[in-house]
Amino acid sequence: MEISRTQSILVTGAAGFLGSHLCQALLAEGHSVVGVDNLSTGRMANLAELSGESRFDFVETDICQPFDVGKVGYVFNFASPASPADYARLGPETLYVGSYGTRHALEIARRHAAGFLHASTSECYGDPDVHPQNESYWGRVNPIGPRSVYDEAKRFSEALVMAFHRYHGVDTHLVRIFNTYGPRLQPTDGRVISNFMIQALLGEDLTVYGDGRQTRSFCFVSDLIDGILRLSRSSEHLPVNIGNPEEWTILECAREVLAVTGSQSKIRYEPLPQDDPMQRCPDISKAKRLLGWEPKIALRRGLELSLPYFRSSLAQAGRHARSGQS
Ligand code: NAD
Ligand code: UDP
Repeated sequence: MEISRTQSILVTGAAGFLGSHLCQALLAEGHSVVGVDNLSTGRMANLAELSGESRFDFVETDICQPFDVGKVGYVFNFASPASPADYARLGPETLYVGSYGTRHALEIARRHAAGFLHASTSECYGDPDVHPQNESYWGRVNPIGPRSVYDEAKRFSEALVMAFHRYHGVDTHLVRIFNTYGPRLQPTDGRVISNFMIQALLGEDLTVYGDGRQTRSFCFVSDLIDGILRLSRSSEHLPVNIGNPEEWTILECAREVLAVTGSQSKIRYEPLPQDDPMQRCPDISKAKRLLGWEPKIALRRGLELSLPYFRSSLAQAGRHARSGQS
């Protein structure tokens, strides 16, 4: 569905890493945006660059409760804790936002005959026994393990989105996002890129979990946002993978971070968390075919582009610590 510039766009999870970049991209295209967030894992600092923008409104609210932001032409549903440390801390809340929250966002799209795009995840594939993962693979998920609060919330959300499409005719889209990184990734949320960048800049050991041979595929944020905007304007209702198919072991990723930061940090091995997937790599042939999309930014370049942000996060944290002491 083409998004009209005369109608506002709702972004839930707007103060988060991805939500804030999405708001910024939509504003740059000339849209008006209403961002909604309960600030459970997001930060107002992520929206600082948008604060002077007259076409941007922010509403602090929990989408697990019904909410109303007036008429909107499109809904992007990005609200949910996303890092393993965050959803371990916010287990029930993660299940609630993936069920009640997704329902409330879908009801808004239905009420206003608006388009809807939901941020799903490669985590729907669990610890996959198909490699690379394509969209027709149903996944291998532990429904009761420590990651289940996130994985099953996301899988339930996908089912609910498909039901609103099939039963209520809502123009829905599902993006399965693979590990994404870049500026505004929360420095303390425990994800691998933020941990390694901060550890390298501080000269601390890089904490590699397990033997570091597990793989991930890392997408730079601008590539992801481009793919998401293309999907939102397509006629595809079934899930589409968006991610960078370049696959790295975690140990290789640590070495890339050391090279980009020029750090002399050492590697320290720590236990692998339970149910940590052994491999992750998107098959992006569907996105290429349907959306003409593929990522442009390789890991080394993306880390270079992220470095100034991580440096300034540390400088700010240092300033706060010093002013706290004085
Ligand atoms: P994030 O934690 O930075 O952002 C999520 C935002 O949602 C936060 O600002 C948080 O405060 C908000 N939120 C959480 N619960 C809420 C609630 N009940 N009501 C209102 N707001 C709420 O995470 P992110 O990396 O930006 O992820 C955004 C979305 O993309 C999530 O849905 C996540 O599952 C999905 N995703 C991200 C990645 C990735 O690599 N970054 C990968 C797969 C999927
Ligand atoms: N990881 C690691 N050290 C860290 C943080 C994460 O070795 O300090 C590993 C983690 O065990 C996983 C991978 O890096 O195998 C990606 O972890 P992340 O939390 O970023 O995302 P996930 O893909 O697991 O959701």
